[in-house]
Amino acid sequence: MSSSRRSFVIHSLSATGALVVSGLALSQTAAPALVKDTDANAVALGYKTDGSKTDVKKYPKYAAGQNCANCALYQAKASDATGPCPLFAGKVVAAKAWCSAWAKKAA
Ligand code: SF4
Repeated sequence: MSSSRRSFVIHSLSATGALVVSGLALSQTAAPALVKDTDANAVALGYKTDGSKTDVKKYPKYAAGQNCANCALYQAKASDATGPCPLFAGKVVAAKAWCSAWAKKAA
């Protein structure tokens, strides 16, 4: 192998290694953020991180005991503290939260 070819191979391998390392770093730091009550779509849906603080005058369909953990749209185990919801793509909702799109999870 010529010295320039050897040098090319070495540089290619180290560039590949750098990509793999940066890919790992990205996957470790990309934990989705928790939805905030003040996010625009959270306000629009009446989302409250603590569902028990829901304004029942504004959302009379809210009933005590309803929360993300027992909603049909919650994409995690009921025992998980947070999980994805398709209405808040890219973020996670709190298991104890509630929003006006709540729908009873099938038993
Ligand atoms: S749709 Fe269900 S899981 Fe999603 S935020 Fe509203 S109550 Fe929570």
